[in-house]
Amino acid sequence: MNNRLYGNLIFELSKSGRKGYSLPKYDYGFHTEELPEVLRRKQEAELPECDELTVVRHYTNLSHNNFGVNDGFYPLGSCTMKYNPIINEEIANIDTFANIHPMQPVETCQPMLKMYSDLQRALAELTGLSEFTLNPCAGAHGELTGLMIICAYHRKNGQLDRKKVLIPDSAHGTNPASAAVCGLDVVEVKSLPDGTVDVEDLQSLVSQHGSEIAAMMMTNPNTLGIFERNIPTIAKMIHDCGGLMYYDGANLNPMLGECRPGDMGFDVMHINLHKTFSTPHGGGGPGSGPVGVRAGLEELLPTPRIIFHEESNCYSIETDNMDYSMGSIGNFFGNYGVMLKAYTYILSLGKTQLKMVGPLATLNANYIKESLKDVYELPIDGVCKHEFVFDGLKDKSTGVTTMDIAKRLLDYGYHAPTIYFPLLFHESLMIEPTESESKETIDGFIEVMRKIAQEAIDNPELLKSAPHTTPIGRVDDVLAAKHPIVTYRQLVADQNQA
Ligand SMILES: *Cc1c(COP(=O)(O)O)cnc(C)c1O
Repeated sequence: MNNRLYGNLIFELSKSGRKGYSLPKYDYGFHTEELPEVLRRKQEAELPECDELTVVRHYTNLSHNNFGVNDGFYPLGSCTMKYNPIINEEIANIDTFANIHPMQPVETCQPMLKMYSDLQRALAELTGLSEFTLNPCAGAHGELTGLMIICAYHRKNGQLDRKKVLIPDSAHGTNPASAAVCGLDVVEVKSLPDGTVDVEDLQSLVSQHGSEIAAMMMTNPNTLGIFERNIPTIAKMIHDCGGLMYYDGANLNPMLGECRPGDMGFDVMHINLHKTFSTPHGGGGPGSGPVGVRAGLEELLPTPRIIFHEESNCYSIETDNMDYSMGSIGNFFGNYGVMLKAYTYILSLGKTQLKMVGPLATLNANYIKESLKDVYELPIDGVCKHEFVFDGLKDKSTGVTTMDIAKRLLDYGYHAPTIYFPLLFHESLMIEPTESESKETIDGFIEVMRKIAQEAIDNPELLKSAPHTTPIGRVDDVLAAKHPIVTYRQLVADQNQA
């Protein structure tokens, strides 16, 4: 890697007066180069001044320090970092789709509306629910939408006191956060030692809060990768007291083709298109978190909605006269490019191959788990779904932590698994291989994980100081979290203070 420029910020490469462009003067009888005086700001804009080649090299070098699924194995648990086939990008980049504008007349974007409507139908079919909206822009955004739908349901029934949401202690952090944003109170449900919901604890919470319960949020397979076996019992308990069942379907991957949330008794759910349906994600977006509801709740879905009219064989966009709709959740229709990629993925696999996704993801996860559990601590044994959690190394005498293992993996060219989540264990190391990886890739990863376990015994210092081969060595995470410096201005102020 050409690292000559690496380490400098673009601001540090700046030379006063240098420009990345040049324009001819007076060619058209007026200045093309300079803005008129009246339009110029009075103080300096504090921007870096660089020639074009310096800028190009700077950002090209930075891009080489990136790591994505296209570079190597990315077993980040709970994130489903699966391969995004090139055909998805090709379709999303077709001019007709890429240049569409949300304000253009509805008769000029019928194909886009058809795609939207077809994708909604496909998701309904895959989940056993009645109808979907694609408007939410991420998983957490979908959770908020789903909870607002649930509130709209209770409001419609005149049950304004239902403000409590039951959430298992193993849930993804976005669940309680979304409930709080929605103005609801979180009631935590305990997990059993095997990681599943403690039904007895739930029973006592239901007796205690009954008429105030708005919903129960569940993730299945849960955040530990374990299939919740008591869903019929739990759903009955919640429905009997008047609450609704919410399904966090961010990790739908292992369920594809195996079972459907709608058949299990869930009323409302979200899906992460940017996980299960292969569209790329990371660094905060763009995402898509479609929300589905069971029959009877369709009128509560957010607007705008796309409606098909059989008589005229065309689609329309509707926002008016939807009295029970929860309202709007954002601008326009959500992240269209993400939807196109998911739609392409679903159609290019087709029903038969889509049914193989879940079983293959499950097989890959179990294969890794079984191949490593003699050297890594497996707190919850048994068959997992798409992911599982180790609690650090089995041999605790070396002092090597999950952080050290994650950092050492970078030296071997792998992205680290999810670490220190879920919070149920001290040294959580959460691995999710997805179905897109070959046996050779997975065997290579297992070999490296075993090598690291051996290094922990032979040379723990090597792990404690890892990574050794990356452009940046071990960073001080605590300092970075407590004292983040994310702008050049902050950096200068910080240096002046020191
Ligand atoms: C990823 C994830 C979410 C949140 O999805 P975002 O798109 O990141 O907002 C919620 N729940 C679970 C279980 C997840 O894995």
